[in-house]
Amino acid sequence: MTEKVRILVPGVIRERVVDRLNERFTVVRIERDDPALLSPEDAAAIAGAAVSGTFGAALIERLPALEMIASFGVGYDGVDVTAAAARGIVVTNTPDVLNDEVADAAIGLLINTVRRLPQAEAWLREGRWVGEGAFPLSPLSLRGRRAGIYGLGRIGMAIASRLKGFGIPVAYHTRRRREDVPYLYYPSLEELAAAVDILIAIVPKTAETHRTVDARILRALGPNGVLINVGRGWTVDDEALAAALADGTIAAAGLDVFHDEPNVPPAFLDLPNMTLTPHVASASVVTRNAMADLVADNLVAWFERGAALTPVPETPVMRRAGPA
Ligand code: NDP
Repeated sequence: MTEKVRILVPGVIRERVVDRLNERFTVVRIERDDPALLSPEDAAAIAGAAVSGTFGAALIERLPALEMIASFGVGYDGVDVTAAAARGIVVTNTPDVLNDEVADAAIGLLINTVRRLPQAEAWLREGRWVGEGAFPLSPLSLRGRRAGIYGLGRIGMAIASRLKGFGIPVAYHTRRRREDVPYLYYPSLEELAAAVDILIAIVPKTAETHRTVDARILRALGPNGVLINVGRGWTVDDEALAAALADGTIAAAGLDVFHDEPNVPPAFLDLPNMTLTPHVASASVVTRNAMADLVADNLVAWFERGAALTPVPETPVMRRAGPA
């Protein structure tokens, strides 16, 4: 009997991934992406990996037979994709299956931020409706607003279609203008921020997007402005945002993602015009199961049929070399 393909799972991942992999492969689990945790025999034999979190260059270097790293999530910034590409290793992510869930959450965060629904619920639960009367009117409204989407990709498009249903005009900024959308394009983030009063960030974590939502962009967004970030915390200058919310440079912000998760800057916790969620935009059972299945499906497709389903642009290999 031929030996089963060995798949490495470093760190925590949704157990559904491991259950699926156990059906066809030998799964090797280690606590984190630390090459010192591997036996020499496993290190030599491991041909695939499934990861939710980090997979660094040191681990890649330790695995001479590695062909594929299947990453859980559409953002794959935890995987050293440059090191993988240099070795010809295919990295896959889980695009599309979470678009609607994340877009729903972005809209929920926007409404909560603007209409203060979490605070209103707390008012009721604390007995203040009975004791003090009606919850104060929300100073902000979605009515009459225009939205700018920073990153009109798969999820950005799903957010835009929802905003259309709310009667909110949409504009966007990306590096390349899209010819296939009816939305107004701004070639710079600052011009977009100046033209709208809701700015929704849904860009990946890359060298180019680091702290791009800074004091200048927040000033352009203006005193009625609302910032929503469902992409990566990396994209926002935290100090500039806390200052802008404290001094009224912008009106409010809603964040699902942070620089140093699960740590949230203490200044954010004290700001009444900020709504915070703990990176839950895709976090429903149905969507996380679909993401888990796509991780497993990529590895099964690669090792059983010689095909990658969703390789990332940096490692665009669709077919395995040689006979599958
Ligand atoms: P896509 O790759 O489909 O879209 C990314 C968009 O960002 C594209 O429109 C791209 O356009 C734009 N973009 C990339 N770099 C820049 C830049 N430097 N300046 C301006 N625009 C840029 O990705 P998805 O929509 O599938 O996902 C986006 C990100 O959302 C993920 O990478 C992930 O980090 C985050 N995410 C967060 C979740 C959460 O739980 N909060 C859940 C899912 C995703 P162009 O290339 O033309 O610039």
